[in-house]
Amino acid sequence: MPANLHAIDTLPSEPSAETGFAINGLDRQSERREDPAFIRELLGQTSTRTLVFSGDIPILNRDGLLHDPTFLLADAQRLGPARETAFLGLDATGTALFATLIDSMSAETQQARDDLAMIDLRTLALQALLPPAVLGRLAQAKSLLGWHARHRFCANCGARTEVSLSGWRRHCPACSAAHFPRTDPVVIMLVEQSGDCLLGRQPGFPPRMVSCLAGFMEAGETIEDAVRREVREEAGIGIGRVSYFASQPWPFPASLMIGCIAEAQSRDLTIDHDELETAGWYSRAEVMKMLDAPAEGPIAPPKPSIANLLMRSWAMGRLSL
Ligand SMILES: [Zn+2]
Repeated sequence: MPANLHAIDTLPSEPSAETGFAINGLDRQSERREDPAFIRELLGQTSTRTLVFSGDIPILNRDGLLHDPTFLLADAQRLGPARETAFLGLDATGTALFATLIDSMSAETQQARDDLAMIDLRTLALQALLPPAVLGRLAQAKSLLGWHARHRFCANCGARTEVSLSGWRRHCPACSAAHFPRTDPVVIMLVEQSGDCLLGRQPGFPPRMVSCLAGFMEAGETIEDAVRREVREEAGIGIGRVSYFASQPWPFPASLMIGCIAEAQSRDLTIDHDELETAGWYSRAEVMKMLDAPAEGPIAPPKPSIANLLMRSWAMGRLSL
């Protein structure tokens, strides 16, 4: 197959590309998902690869310290029967990539195959074990396969649904309803006031970590209103202007983090202690220090996260309303 000019093999320069899971580079060929002859042809090519998930965890080929999550289709079949399969897209060389969900790798296979590893996506991102584009494709596969695993029955009539559109839709044979994979938007915001920013600590955070406030968007809400509501609920202050900065696919299980900067109208916090252990205002110098992960005092979230990008960009003066 010729080189695929629609796939993106270089890093785009927008801020989103600096977050983990954001680089993907596949040409998804979404207009051809309903073309069975095209998909059959791809499945018949010896170069075609698939990413294999056992539940929520990807299986990786391991060679010393090197990891590769792509399998030839014949090799993937030996890992276990496929429960779901989806077409992800073509890479820059024209090679097709699919995603396969298997029930679980048998204990015998796991014991017998020291050339395989199972490592969750958070660890792969935190330890930078894979190139950014490979991590992005795993995120695409995880969110999509996770949706299939949790949406086997029709939300309209309760009948068992069938996969269609090469893995990008489920069809209900009983009531003809079509169900599409979900993406759940979450707003995450760097709140600024008089040269300081607002950071908080949720009860489940690792020790000493503070971060931007965040929350799921609700039905009938703009991004700006979701930012204003979340900050008012969690910190008790009003927000004026809100600007979008960057976004990040977050495959736990299928979120899109929408990173914003927001202007606080006051500094007097009323903290909702069900949501936040603590919250406070920090200067640029204090945030720069947190980003260096000091041995004492507050630390920032790790680099693959959009919270880290927001805090770093703000501290360096790249992020403004
Ligand atoms: Zn139905």
